[in-house]
Amino acid sequence: MPSLIIAEHNGCTLLPSTRATVTAAKYIDDDIHLLVMGDGIATLAHLACQISGVAAVFMVDAPILGHLLAENVEQQISTFLQQQETTYQAILFPASTFGKNCAPRLAAKLDVFQISDITAVIDPQTFERPIYAGNAVATVRSEDKIKVITVRPTAFEPAVDGGNARVEHIEAISGTKQAEFISQQVTQNSRPDLQAAKIIVSGGRALGSASAFAEVVEKLADTLGAAVGASRAAVDAGYAPNDYQIGQTGKIVAPQLYIALGISGAIQHIAGMKESAVVVAINKDPDAPIFAAADYGLVADLFAAVPELIEKLPSRH
Ligand SMILES: Cc1cc2nc3c(=O)[nH]c(=O)nc-3n(C[C@H](O)[C@H](O)[C@H](O)COP(=O)(O)OP(=O)(O)OC[C@H]3O[C@@H](n4cnc5c(N)ncnc54)[C@H](O)[C@@H]3O)c2cc1C
Repeated sequence: MPSLIIAEHNGCTLLPSTRATVTAAKYIDDDIHLLVMGDGIATLAHLACQISGVAAVFMVDAPILGHLLAENVEQQISTFLQQQETTYQAILFPASTFGKNCAPRLAAKLDVFQISDITAVIDPQTFERPIYAGNAVATVRSEDKIKVITVRPTAFEPAVDGGNARVEHIEAISGTKQAEFISQQVTQNSRPDLQAAKIIVSGGRALGSASAFAEVVEKLADTLGAAVGASRAAVDAGYAPNDYQIGQTGKIVAPQLYIALGISGAIQHIAGMKESAVVVAINKDPDAPIFAAADYGLVADLFAAVPELIEKLPSRH
């Protein structure tokens, strides 16, 4: 029985989280369909059909889906499921802001349990997911006829190109009146996307102010061509925007290099970055728990160490 993946995209391209979700779905069944919703997304069809392992791509291109409001996304998926002759055994979303927003609504509508943030597929009914801020792994089994699943993108390699799926255009819903798009403020950021970045420089409470955060953390990130992250304490104090937060209640990242500046290493923060290939920590407290998670640790005052580091690094500009 096929699985249906709800694609995440930015209007121009499919995000790596979609490709990682395809890989996860392959462990359930190699019959995989992709549903791509949005407005002005015609160019995504030829990208989607090339993903290796995808057998069918369903495109819904309509203004009502322009901002992918969860209410409309759920209604579109529910309508699609009713209209299709195919019975899906699983519907998978990336465990991203988009997926976390939409999947629970669909699961409630279908009256099934949501299986959240899976990191492994044991068999089509059985999955692994981290619990207790990543300190334990739960094995969960679901007998639901249709499973609504969110997939942790960093746990699966993104599926590569090489497929040749058929593409079908389907009719859009008229839309629900429950929610309406009013406006949005898009953060202008020339840096790499946090969840796809190879290098992340992250700052904590020790920075003490938004200006110091910019002067130290962002400057080092610019020198390295890195994305910027933050601890919750730094976000709560207003030193960094909310979408920089890494951890249990923030983003889960797995870069090749993670540099933690003035971050103590609380379990809730570690939960978001422990899959990083190499972790470097600078902290003035030699007993800070972050050092237990670090491959390289420097006991130093970051306000002295980081400018020195920046000076020694070749600038990318
Ligand atoms: C339910 C729940 C969910 C949470 N989710 C998250 C989450 O998603 N992400 C997250 O990050 N946190 C999360 N937290 C909060 C978490 O428990 C910590 O409070 C938080 O991570 C601490 O942030 P911090 O390391 O920046 O600050 P602190 O713990 O205050 O650490 C600051 C560190 O900076 C060091 N330092 C100070 N000055 C300097 C200097 N000049 N040079 C070098 N080092 C210096 C200190 O030695 C210290 O180790 C959550 C908590 C709860 C209860």
